[in-house]
Amino acid sequence: MKMTAMLAGGLGAVLAAAVAVSPAPCAISAAEEAEVTEEAGFTISEIPDEIFEKMQGKSYREDCPIPREDLRYLRVLHKNLEGETLEGELVCHETVAEDLVDIFRELYEAGYPIGKIKLADEYDAVDEAMMTDNNTSCFNFRFISHTTKISKHGLGVAVDINTLYNPCTKTVDGERVIEPPAGEPYLDRGQDFPYKIVEGDLCYNLFLEHGFIWGGNWINVKDYQHFELPDEVSDELRARYEM
Ligand SMILES: [Zn+2]
Repeated sequence: MKMTAMLAGGLGAVLAAAVAVSPAPCAISAAEEAEVTEEAGFTISEIPDEIFEKMQGKSYREDCPIPREDLRYLRVLHKNLEGETLEGELVCHETVAEDLVDIFRELYEAGYPIGKIKLADEYDAVDEAMMTDNNTSCFNFRFISHTTKISKHGLGVAVDINTLYNPCTKTVDGERVIEPPAGEPYLDRGQDFPYKIVEGDLCYNLFLEHGFIWGGNWINVKDYQHFELPDEVSDELRARYEM
């Protein structure tokens, strides 16, 4: 688990790593220069201009107190159900960037299927649209649904995986809510179906090894798609950003 070190080391550690692997000078952009390329297809960089542009008013709202410098843009590879290799992209908090790249690399190498990994901005940051499309993502500056509290996705320290097949269910004003509604058939976790996350599977084990907790283990809310850092870490970030 690296997150404590990452919190302390932060940007400095990332930049130091980038310098260590920096190639001979050539015509690459500043964003590319900052990449930590441990293996082709898996990179961490600061948020490139064109991505930050795309995030405006969508996943990165005007009232977002998290500075751009504290976020990271990740490129990862993943396999779909047919075993094809696809490229994915995510934005997350720098605290978890290395952990997420490690997790997605291990999932890829094991052939663990992930349908798609696109930025929330491809869906105008509309969570339901993203979940219905079975998208996997991390950062989205938004409230926890049916509350006024910024979600851990808003901090970039929560990840939703294969969302259609791993829905979330909770009770709101006495009524059962399913997110996304199209995920209802997959709430029966006794069934066998593709993309299902279960306790003890590779996805679950990797996230837990890296210090995340799983929403599928919660009692009142069941959020099978959701992995997040525990409150003691996120509270420190909330305090840092006064949110
Ligand atoms: Zn989530």
